[in-house]
Amino acid sequence: MTLFVDVRNMVRWTAETGPERIIAGMSGYIEDDFRRWESFDKIARIGSHTPFGVIELMPTSDGETYAFKYVNGHPSNPARGFQTVSAFGALADVSNGYPVFLAEMTLLTALRTAATSAMVARHLARPDSRRLALIGAGSQSEFQALGMRAVLGISEVSVWDTDPAAMTKLVRNLEPLGFDVHVAASGREAVRGADVVTTCTADKARATVLSADWIEPGVHVNAIGGDCPGKTELDPTILLREDVEVFVEFPPQTRIEGEIQAMPADFPVTELWQVVAGRTPGRTSSSQVTVFDSVGFAIEDLSALRYVRDSVRGTSWVDDIDLVAEPDDPKDLFGMVSALSPIPS
Ligand code: NAD
Repeated sequence: MTLFVDVRNMVRWTAETGPERIIAGMSGYIEDDFRRWESFDKIARIGSHTPFGVIELMPTSDGETYAFKYVNGHPSNPARGFQTVSAFGALADVSNGYPVFLAEMTLLTALRTAATSAMVARHLARPDSRRLALIGAGSQSEFQALGMRAVLGISEVSVWDTDPAAMTKLVRNLEPLGFDVHVAASGREAVRGADVVTTCTADKARATVLSADWIEPGVHVNAIGGDCPGKTELDPTILLREDVEVFVEFPPQTRIEGEIQAMPADFPVTELWQVVAGRTPGRTSSSQVTVFDSVGFAIEDLSALRYVRDSVRGTSWVDDIDLVAEPDDPKDLFGMVSALSPIPS
C-alpha cells in the first residue's frame, strides 16, 4: 500500500498543526538535506514550455529514497480562474522502486518554498531584521511572511501588488495572525526601510519589480518569482552592485531559470549548500546585500515530502491507497485480471 495525503488532509494537517510551525519544522529538514547535498543525484528540472506557461518534472534521489514533483507555472491562470502553480509529488523506495508516499503539493509547495526562504534567511539575513517587504500578494505571499516570522521574528510587513484585491486578501489573512501590515502605494514605498525584501510576483516577462536604487545596505533579497526562462523580477543591475552577493540552489538550473539567466555563464554565485555545510561564509558584514536567487530545487521537495510523511504517519491525516498492482506471483500480473472474470477472446 502507498500512503496518500490528498488536498483535504493536507489542508487539515496544515490548519490543525499551524502553518508557521510546519514551515519551521520543514526548514530543519531542508537544512539537513542541504548539509548532505553531495549525496543526492541532481539534474536541472525538465520543463515543457508553451505560450501558456510551463509544466516541469523535478526528480532527485539520495540512493535510498527517490522523489519527484510535477508542477506547473502559468502566470495567466488567475485571470482565468485557475492558480498559477499546482503540483503533486511522490517518494519511492529505491530498493524495489515502489512508490511509498504520494501527496498533493500545491499547498505543500507554498509551505516548502516558505521553508526554504526561511532556512536561507536564517543564514543570510541580518539577525536584527524587523521589517519585511513583500512585492506580490498572491498564493505564496502569506506563507512567505510566516516563514520570515518563524526564523527572524518579523511581524511588520509592507506589501505592494499591482492587484489591490490581492493586497486586501493578504491583510485579511495576516492581521488576525498578529502581523502589522502596511499597504504601500508602490514597490518603492514598500521596500523603504525593509530589512528583508521578498519578491513573489508572477509574470511571464523580464519584469522589474525591484530597482537597484531602492535597495538599502544590509538588505536580504529573497527573490522567488523569477523561476523560468524569460521570467525574471529584479533590475539586473542589482546583481552587478559591488555590495551584492548572489546565492543559488543548483547553479546549472538557476543559470537557466533564475535572475542570473540575464548574466554571462560564468557570473559568480555562491552555492547555498556550501554555506549550510559551513564550507563558505554566508553574510560577511551587516552592510552587505545578500540575494537569494530562488528557483526551487528538487531536493527541497524531497525534504518537504519526507517531513509530511514523518508527521502524518499513523494519524487521520493520511490514507492507504492501492497504487501498485501486486499479484501473489510477481510474474503473474495477467492472473489478477483472469481471476476476476473470464477474459473474452
Ligand atoms: P500568484 O499568481 O498567486 O501571485 C502573483 C502575484 O503577483 C499576483 O497577485 C499579481 O497581481 C502580482 N504581480 C504580478 N506582476 C506584478 C508586478 N509587476 N508588481 C507587483 N505585483 C505583481 O502566484 P504565486 O503562486 O504567489 O507565485 C508567485 C511566483 O513565485 C510565481 O512566479 C511562481 O512561479 C513563483 N514560485 C517560485 C517558487 C520557488 O521555489 N522559487 C515556488 C513557488 C512559486
